[in-house]
Amino acid sequence: MPANANKSGCLGILLAPFLGRKAVDASAQEELPYARRDDFLSHAEISFFHVFRNTLSSDHHLLTKVNLADLFFVRQPHINLSARGKISQKHVDFVICDTSTMNPLVAIELDDASHHKPDRQARDTFVDQVFVTAGLPLIRIPAARAYNPEQIRLQLAPHLSMDPQAESSPPSPLGTTDSTPINEEAYAEGNQADAETTPACERCGSPMVERMAKRGPNSGQTFWGCTAYPKCRHTLTR
Ligand SMILES: [Zn+2]
Repeated sequence: MPANANKSGCLGILLAPFLGRKAVDASAQEELPYARRDDFLSHAEISFFHVFRNTLSSDHHLLTKVNLADLFFVRQPHINLSARGKISQKHVDFVICDTSTMNPLVAIELDDASHHKPDRQARDTFVDQVFVTAGLPLIRIPAARAYNPEQIRLQLAPHLSMDPQAESSPPSPLGTTDSTPINEEAYAEGNQADAETTPACERCGSPMVERMAKRGPNSGQTFWGCTAYPKCRHTLTR
């Protein structure tokens, strides 16, 4: 007991300057209306999280409650004005990323009883369409008291074997990882076809701008880069 009392006494002395400053700050400004939630994850989500964490290798990283606006961006936002609002209030329960790049590979939704309600079904249909359109797999797993790790592993295996983005992604606009040689023919054609107009990005529809690779093997060479960079890293050789 005396040892404990002594310990807290020391802590009290150490913390005193910080506690004092906090108190002054709080009284100086209006109190903000925020409180910490005790239900960050539901019981079903916690149960799933633990099973899942043990299922994944160190090559894959599990994130929870990811906002759709962090996963997707709006193509041509000046035209699709309300599109971001439709996704910015929505989350997906889990996202598995490639650990080395942290590129999202597959998303997972736990479907509990609430998913049978009509308004919830409309929401789910919209979310499904967003994932299909943007090309990120979404798996729906019925919420349960217990999960079978082997079954989950089988369901996820097709999506975790490799990082599709790393495999098929175009060269980086800054040329840091660009190993694609500039095609002389495409360069000549591009010059003739696009002499007056700039091309539109075929991935997101944004206009493209002429850029120069600053680093990498193609350093000094020009290419078309998407103006939505870094959200869209699509490039076109000139
Ligand atoms: Zn683009």
